[in-house]
Amino acid sequence: VSAPKSAAIVTVGSELTEGLRVDTNTAEIARDIQHRGFRVVEAVSVGDDVAGLALVLERLTRVHALVVTTGGLGPTHDDVTREAAAMALGIGVAPDPSLIEFLTPFLARHSDPDAAEQVLTQALVLSGAEVLAPTTGTAAGQVAATPAGVLVLLPGPPREMRPMLASWLSRLPSVRATALDLGVTGLPESDVQLSAQRGLLGHNGVGLTVLARPGDVRVLLLDEGAGESGLASAATSVAAEVGSACYATGGETLAETVVRAAAAAGLTVAAAESCTGGMVCTAITDVAGASSVLLGGVVAYANTAKIDLLAVPPGLLAQFGAVSEQTACAMAQGARDSFGADIAVSTTGVAGPGGGTADKPVGLVWFAVATAHGTHATVRQISSADRSAVRSRATAVALDLLRREILGV
Ligand code: ATP
Ligand code: MG
Repeated sequence: VSAPKSAAIVTVGSELTEGLRVDTNTAEIARDIQHRGFRVVEAVSVGDDVAGLALVLERLTRVHALVVTTGGLGPTHDDVTREAAAMALGIGVAPDPSLIEFLTPFLARHSDPDAAEQVLTQALVLSGAEVLAPTTGTAAGQVAATPAGVLVLLPGPPREMRPMLASWLSRLPSVRATALDLGVTGLPESDVQLSAQRGLLGHNGVGLTVLARPGDVRVLLLDEGAGESGLASAATSVAAEVGSACYATGGETLAETVVRAAAAAGLTVAAAESCTGGMVCTAITDVAGASSVLLGGVVAYANTAKIDLLAVPPGLLAQFGAVSEQTACAMAQGARDSFGADIAVSTTGVAGPGGGTADKPVGLVWFAVATAHGTHATVRQISSADRSAVRSRATAVALDLLRREILGV
């Protein structure tokens, strides 16, 4: 593997610099261009300002073999990327006949003649540049030569940018295998890191990055010379070292793993959620194909809802409290019965920041899994005072309990 060539990404738009939109394009582009032998060295967001953008592009196109911009290719006055690129490279722009032809049907939608003129600014192409055909929108991309390599102009909306980038990249030779993405749940990040490092002993040319989120640790294995088969064998030994906490080696989410495993086993699932408020069902229904697996869920937050919707006995709630082994079991059984599911999971806990007691501190969450063979409960003391982290981690635990029940691990 030869040394990666340097690349820069420039995202254009005042909505990005002013914090009204979050830049997701940079991350996608940086990831995708790696397999083609580029490494992003600089990434910058610039407002809709032609002179400021020209200055940035002038510098970056002298330094980097590849500069990619997104945004500012629309038809309005604040779309300045074409003009700034022309200034930076000291070249002109001219209308492209095939783009004029493509845009002409869109002119009819505008009654104002100035609007028509604006639409046609999208036909302007840098002198000598190659046109990348519009994808899901009307903005064309461009590829122009620069002092250090090439400048690629892409539209801002991710659904337009993505297919155009993919089609441009598909013409370049692939020099690196796609990174493998392993999912691990239920272990601290540092433990996962150490297991992964042990798993990689004897595997050369594999880079390691560990990324943690509440309840989920991703292990990325990067091709630094190992190639596709080398990465695959490294993934196998990392997965073996991590053990049953590793739920995926191909980038799947935990919920995807649950849906696939349940579908493969022909099992249906249901949920009874208190502190997770529907997050378990949301995660499952995010997965295409969830309908073959998920029958439904109940968000039973108040005690009355646990009693009325899940048939939790009032006496049991009074005796043990809502956050208890007994209530968790009764909730899971209630959901399993009312949906007629093979497996039901429940969550009931103290999400915080208030409401904790000495007995039941913030972060204490009870879970139960009910099946035809019985019901068993699990408790976690989630060590975070952050309500959203407690709920995210509780959701991951509930999904993992389903996964382990389905797979028998
Ligand atoms: P058009 O004006 O034709 O939609 P454009 O190329 O000019 O295309 P922009 O106007 O700059 O694109 O952006 C349109 C929308 O695309 C933004 O409001 C934003 O929602 C989204 N967008 C732009 N840049 C990014 C980015 N870097 N990451 C995520 N979304 C972005
Ligand atoms: Mg814009």
